[in-house]
Amino acid sequence: MSEVKGKVVIITGASSGLGEASAKMLAAKGAKLVLGARREERLKKLVDEIKQSGGEAIYKTVDVTKRDQVEALAKAARDEFGRIDVLVNNAGLMPLAPLDELKVDEWDQMIDVNIKGVMYGVGAVLPTMREQHSGHVINLSSVAGHVVFPGATVYCATKFAVKAISEGIRQESNGEIRATNISPGAVATELTDHISHKDSKEMADDLYNDAIDSNAIARAITFAIEQPGEVDVNEMIIRPTKQE
Ligand code: NDP
Repeated sequence: MSEVKGKVVIITGASSGLGEASAKMLAAKGAKLVLGARREERLKKLVDEIKQSGGEAIYKTVDVTKRDQVEALAKAARDEFGRIDVLVNNAGLMPLAPLDELKVDEWDQMIDVNIKGVMYGVGAVLPTMREQHSGHVINLSSVAGHVVFPGATVYCATKFAVKAISEGIRQESNGEIRATNISPGAVATELTDHISHKDSKEMADDLYNDAIDSNAIARAITFAIEQPGEVDVNEMIIRPTKQE
């Protein structure tokens, strides 16, 4: 099954930004979507929109830091559509701040959502993908998963970890499971809204002046999914042309 049409795709963090844009694009190409995030109203509205446009989607509220909830999301996909072809591990947070600010709760949040949430996703879909002898895990890393910059130490650490997880999935795939690591630069979403440190927020706002549209990443995700089964797109970096 190489086309998007008919594939069962789980997307975490589908209530805004890249996840929402990817859901709309994949739905338009005929994917069967299972959308997860914490904000139910947003998910409900998105599913309604997709259905009105003739697409197929369900949602389930999920906090990706809770393993049982991530497993319930995967179960919802199996119960509704009978299989899981793709997991887009997209939920993530970026509360930037220098280490000296000691925002230890935010460090915990980033590690819990950006790393543990991704691993819970992998754990929830892997047995089904093994049974099917096919599957595809797409992880949202970042340019911050390739280079470290001041004020982003913990965020970069989580996104380096995501890159390692993607490569590990590839190496352990036994030729059955595709692994794609997607590394966006600045994309206009709600990601910077949660930065509580004033100087870091100003730095991010400056960088995000040239931010590109979420559809740029949705197109990359779609490209990886629509390749023939023997083609595994492992790594994509997508920056605004003007980003240094
Ligand atoms: P948004 O803030 O718009 O979206 C983040 C999504 O993650 C939301 O849907 C949010 O939903 C969800 N989320 C956050 N915490 C949890 C949680 N505990 N459980 C479930 N869902 C959660 O940002 P983006 O769309 O930009 O971010 C998507 C991914 O892309 C992230 O992993 C981010 O790190 C990565 N990325 C983004 C870049 C950018 O410039 N925008 C650049 C590089 C990478 P809800 O609050 O409803 O739970």
